Amino acid sequence: MKIVAAKKILKINDQLAAENRSQFDAAKVRVVNVVGSPGAGKTTLLEALFAQLKSRRRPAVIEGDIAGSIDSERMERIGVPVVQINTDGACHLDANMIANAVKELDLTAVDLLAIENIGNLVCTAGFDLGEHLRIVVLSTAEGDDKAVKYPAIFQGSDALVITKIDLAPHLNFKPERITADMKRLAPDAPVFQVSATRGDGVAPLADWLSQTLAATKPLN
Ligand code: MG
Ligand code: ZN
Repeated sequence: MKIVAAKKILKINDQLAAENRSQFDAAKVRVVNVVGSPGAGKTTLLEALFAQLKSRRRPAVIEGDIAGSIDSERMERIGVPVVQINTDGACHLDANMIANAVKELDLTAVDLLAIENIGNLVCTAGFDLGEHLRIVVLSTAEGDDKAVKYPAIFQGSDALVITKIDLAPHLNFKPERITADMKRLAPDAPVFQVSATRGDGVAPLADWLSQTLAATKPLN
């Protein structure tokens, strides 16, 4: 019974995700789902990306957190429209939460919507939100073995962004190791090495994101 119920939930989620994507396509909004552990640097990466992309794209953000609005306040400070979802304990965002959050956004004033998912390398992988691209963010401090241990989220992502690369000399983190694992799991996904606080590597990522989202055909 429980297995059937879980499948049913995922099936309903997929239908809602497809509806979200249709809505985004109709509004010509391109959507990226940003996944990764707590502390991987997702919010700092978004701040750095928006600083690069603001002249080319009109960004907005949906922030997912179990509680609080710290990340949304950071987005407000840099002038990016933001909707906060508090999941009250749930460890991932789902398509229904996104459908409700999008109602609070003026999609006519947006062309790039980033969804910052709950910090989690496990079940965020299983929920399509209606995005066009998914990027997984992994900091050097988390270790270079995570693609082996959490393959689904790496396999399901369109790019890997290694953050806090400036810390790599102080850690036993080998970028080539996780890059090789990513190539095995997702052969077409590029790997970026970034220090968002220093700005290293942000421009190539911003260019890739901008070009790839622009080239993304409606998926349904
Ligand atoms: Mg954050
Ligand atoms: Zn979850």
